[in-house]
Formats: sequence, C-alpha cells, structure tokens
Amino acid sequence: MCLKFINRIYSKRSLGRLVRCTERKIKKDDMPVSTIIQSNKHADIAVSTGFKNADPCTARECKWERSTDGLVYVPYVISNQYSPDELKVIERGLWSFVDVSCIRFVPHEGQRHFLYIKSHSGCYSYLGRQGGGQVVSLKRPGCVYHRTVQHELLHALGFHHEQNRSDRDKHIKILFENIKPAQRHNFMRRETNNLATPYDYKSVMHYSRKAFSRNNEPTMIPIPDRNVVIGEARSMSRNDILRINRLYCRTLNLY
Ligand SMILES: [Zn+2]
Repeated sequence: MCLKFINRIYSKRSLGRLVRCTERKIKKDDMPVSTIIQSNKHADIAVSTGFKNADPCTARECKWERSTDGLVYVPYVISNQYSPDELKVIERGLWSFVDVSCIRFVPHEGQRHFLYIKSHSGCYSYLGRQGGGQVVSLKRPGCVYHRTVQHELLHALGFHHEQNRSDRDKHIKILFENIKPAQRHNFMRRETNNLATPYDYKSVMHYSRKAFSRNNEPTMIPIPDRNVVIGEARSMSRNDILRINRLYCRTLNLY
C-alpha cells in the first residue's frame, strides 16, 4: 500500500508525507542489503576510488530511462536542512556528471521518479531507480563531501561498491574476522555487470582498508600487492566514469 502511494503521489507539496512513507517501508519490509546500501560515516567519507559495478536490476526496472534526446534525466529535490555551503557541495556533486556523461540531475518538476536528498541517518542510497520518490541520505555533519555525494548518486544510478563485484576475490582478500559482525553484509560478493571494466582500487565506490573494522585491523587486503592504496578517492575515477557511460550513454558515442 505504501509503495502504491509513492508511485501515485509525487508533488513537492506531498513530499514530506511521501518520504515518511518511504522510511516506513524500509523498516517494515526489512529490505535486503542488495536493495539498500547503507554505509557508516567512516566507510563513505574515507571511501576509495574505483569502478562502479552495475546491479543486474539495471537490465530491468531499476535503470533510469534515457530521453529521446539521448540524455538521462534524474530529477531531484534537496531538503532545506542544508546550509548554503553544504548546498554548494551537493550541487557540485550533481553537476559533476554533466561534462563526463549523459546523466543530467535536474530539479524535480512533477516527474514520477525522483531523488529526495536529505539529512537522514548516515550516508546511504537505494540501489538504482526504485519508482516514485527515493531518499538519498547525506547526513549533516558527516556526509556532505564531494566524494560522498558522488558515491551515493552512483548507488542511485545502480552501481555497487567495488569490493562487492563478482570478480573481487581475484583482487582483494576480505578478512571477515576483522569486520564488525553487523556490517559483514557490506562485504558480500554480488553478481554484478562489470561492463567489461577492470577492478579498480581507485574507484570512489571502493571501501577503505579498515572499513567497518572491529579491531582497527584491515578488513580488506589487495591481491597480490598488499601495499596498493585503496579507499582514498576524492572523486570519481576514470573507470567510474567509463562505467556510467557504458551503462547509460553507450549509443551516443560521445564519451
Ligand atoms: Zn556506499
């Protein structure tokens, strides 16, 4: 019932109620971690660079639609919770996709599907388009950083964390014994569409070496060179951008 409400109601006037409805849905349905990606402050702010890897749902319903002009418009609303400086950071993140891809984040003007960027509980986003309004949480303070904005927007476009991709075991060893038990789901391997791109330690979607550590020991070690830097990206890597283009913009031949 809640989902029907979300799909039917999308005016800005209804947004407050709509978002509360969305949040209830998350709790009530106990959504699987493959559907909602939530990261703590450490993981998303200290996040590394790398390629984004698309969830298989992007071959079906969770991919944002391309317009007849070849661009992919993703409407958004930004909560009034943010200061002018924080707003600049968020808008810079939204605009950072323009010069490198066909993705266009545009102010919501009544479209059915849109992002609602707000300060909620931590840094998180749904994976891909959900239908109706969907929250992208950039908590203040803690989540309003350029790399975090890009990271969560990439989740909203359908991309997983780098260390979750299907071939990750060839490139990284996960040390589950060092991970906080409640966070181990963040390290599960996923069946991803890797878009013919290599594993990238420098992806903005890659966690840092000690992400979610319970004992300050590494939770991930690169293979074969354990000294490779991971999880320190400040913005999307070239391969992150390549993946966006391969998933959404391929026929344009512009990128
Ligand atoms: Zn994330």
